[in-house]
Amino acid sequence: MVTVTMPRPLRPLPTRPPVPAWKVLLPALIAGGVGWGAWQAAARPVNPPAQPGAALIRGAQDWQTLRGFGPRETGSAGNARTLDWAQAQFEALGYRVTRQALPDPVSMPAGREAAIQVDGPGGPQTLTGEALIGTQTSGQTGRLVRLPPGVTDAQLEGLLGRLAVTTCPDGPWRDLADRVLNAGILGLVIVNDCPHPPAYSPLANVALPVLSVTPDVGRALLDHLGREVTFTTTVRTQDAPAWNLIAARVEASPDVLFGAHLDSVPGSPGANDNASGILAVLHAARQAAGTPLAGRAWFVLFGAEEQGLLGSRAFVRAHPLPLRNTRAMLNFDMVGVDAEPLGVDAHPDLLTLARRARPDLRAFRDAPATTRETFGRSSPVTGRSDNLPFKLIGVRTAFLHRGEDRHYHRATDTTLDPALAEDAATLAVQVARAALDTPWTPREPCGITGRDCR
Ligand SMILES: [Zn+2]
Repeated sequence: MVTVTMPRPLRPLPTRPPVPAWKVLLPALIAGGVGWGAWQAAARPVNPPAQPGAALIRGAQDWQTLRGFGPRETGSAGNARTLDWAQAQFEALGYRVTRQALPDPVSMPAGREAAIQVDGPGGPQTLTGEALIGTQTSGQTGRLVRLPPGVTDAQLEGLLGRLAVTTCPDGPWRDLADRVLNAGILGLVIVNDCPHPPAYSPLANVALPVLSVTPDVGRALLDHLGREVTFTTTVRTQDAPAWNLIAARVEASPDVLFGAHLDSVPGSPGANDNASGILAVLHAARQAAGTPLAGRAWFVLFGAEEQGLLGSRAFVRAHPLPLRNTRAMLNFDMVGVDAEPLGVDAHPDLLTLARRARPDLRAFRDAPATTRETFGRSSPVTGRSDNLPFKLIGVRTAFLHRGEDRHYHRATDTTLDPALAEDAATLAVQVARAALDTPWTPREPCGITGRDCR
């Protein structure tokens, strides 16, 4: 007998109710949030711990170190070492340091060979010299004439197409070269028989050969007056990176800003111009460390000032919003040699505050900004240092300066008095504190919708 069992009807398996979406999403969101928060916390900038004794370091000690790094022209080893050292000094004081790379590399002279072809008794002969900074690679042939050292424009007339030689000019080499080339002379040799090394005086990208030679070469060349000679210059440039070094407490806004340029001109150790300014900014940072001023100040060492205020221009472009609250920008340039007593070219408000701290303070007006700064319009704006870009956007500035000493932009700019730099910094800190204590309305933005700040 067979029993047939009928399949039982299938019963649906018990199922769990579907998991609501929020039960999956919420923990995921929480986990994500916690992770993001942790990542944020880890990435959040923090102030480095202040090192004991860092605020007690004096300018004399800084100068000892700084002079050992050598010249600081943009792209040089001395420039890079100074950046590293200054960063360490600021960090030891508890400031966080960032470096702002300039948007474009800076074109620096790398090689400046120059030659003069003359016809000697035994055939063609080559004399060698050095192309002036700001001359391009070029070559010209012409009849050689001699110019007297104080050559007048009248004496330059009728020399079109000639090549010229002169002994040590009275004024800046650049001015002479401009006048000579504007008169239609196709090349210039300056015999460097000057009693003092000439000042750095770069030409403005001249496409004709302008070169200097030693007195010996000059004598040999003068034997060829009236004859056909050829001047050639072979110039190489190198793109160098440049930075602004910005030191500030993480929580600090730039209510006041202390600044100085870090670089020096090619061919000069740059002691007064502007190791003195670096010393002054460091001294101000030390005085501010651990006081309320540290929470309201930025300290900036600008790059490539000597190539046309490139660092300070880039800084101003990169920080338009924080600078809206800046009550004072205090700039130090050449404050380590007393060519004149400490002077200030300042906004009237800041001059009043500075005079309150130092009644006998000298006030001066820096040379007018070039027409390039003001787009050809005549302007009361003055300044040849890093305060200018700040001025142009309407920030009140004070430029502290002890005058142009005779070593300015020369190879002999080798000494400074650290106490003078510290003294300038002390005054700037007094002005900064006074500016913070004085009522102030943040300035309106400049530009199309704002006021005209020029
Ligand atoms: Zn300078």
